Amino acid sequence: MSRATILRVPPLSPQLHDAVGEQYDAVDPADLPARRDDVVGIVCTNTGRVDGDLIASLPRLGVIVNHGVGYDNIDVPAALARGIAISNTPDVLDDAVAETAIALLLAVRREVVAADRFVRDGRWPDGPYPLTAQVADSRVGIIGLGRIGRAVATRLEALGCAVSYHNRRQVPDVDYTYAASPAALAAAVDNLVVVVPGGAGTEALIDRSVLDALGPDGVLVNIARGSVVDEPELVAALREGRLGGAGLDVYADEPRVPEELTTMDNVVLLPHVASGTHVTRAAMRALTLDNLAAWLADGTLRTPIPELSAR
Ligand code: NDP
Repeated sequence: MSRATILRVPPLSPQLHDAVGEQYDAVDPADLPARRDDVVGIVCTNTGRVDGDLIASLPRLGVIVNHGVGYDNIDVPAALARGIAISNTPDVLDDAVAETAIALLLAVRREVVAADRFVRDGRWPDGPYPLTAQVADSRVGIIGLGRIGRAVATRLEALGCAVSYHNRRQVPDVDYTYAASPAALAAAVDNLVVVVPGGAGTEALIDRSVLDALGPDGVLVNIARGSVVDEPELVAALREGRLGGAGLDVYADEPRVPEELTTMDNVVLLPHVASGTHVTRAAMRALTLDNLAAWLADGTLRTPIPELSAR
């Protein structure tokens, strides 16, 4: 039987790239001019763009399997209009991403990175490091109490924090305090963790009004998408002391990070690694390949995106 032709949209991890090559007739973007008519599936990660032009250029495309829970890299309406199936990798990354949120919060509040620099720079003999703020007993708001948001919440409870949240809809089965808007939540907490999907619906959800509501003693943690935060406003708020600090895993124009942020000691910067553990990436890879195999076998997906299930 001939093997299905699958387009690998970069960047893919070497393991995923090779696995697709071993199991399928894999093509890469450079091969496309000659192979457009053969491609039935796309494998991508959430940093590889699958736009309307690419989708339109592949007449036999039937499935897009995304290695990542967020899929704002894909033109979903264009794909659904063609009846193309889309999958993502929910659940398997919740623990790793939630850990990263907690790591960022602790790192900013306890000044872990700045204190490390203090030791490395040989400044300790000149006097002790200044006191820091503890996370225990603080009020933490979560914007996006979904799968990952809940995993963040349980860890915050274990740290002794008071948890509240904002979603568009109140979650029925939790006791956390609900706030009706991002600004209302920000005004009521010391620390704000953002973990909503990216895309048009959440573009600049964290705007100046939210940052100002969080205030000069507040800390923002963003493990969602760079697009969710108005980045120029974030930089300005930090520069002007209107925001106390920030822990960031994601940025508006990755891998470019506003240079001013790199000069601030009250900011901790990660290179979009929230799900980046060996265990989690292996699970995400397996689920991505399972989705592709299932669709090729019988047209089903193990984890279709919600827009597809809702149809
Ligand atoms: P879920 O769909 O389980 O949760 C998303 C939550 O966001 C829901 O509770 C939803 O509630 C809420 N939400 C959606 N839109 C809005 C809005 N406009 N305003 C307020 N709340 C909103 O997703 P996951 O928890 O699995 O993942 C969340 C996101 O985290 C991913 O989409 C991805 O972008 C990001 N992520 C980042 C990673 C990284 O490496 N940094 C790794 C993994 C995920 P409601 O619908 O009621 O509003």
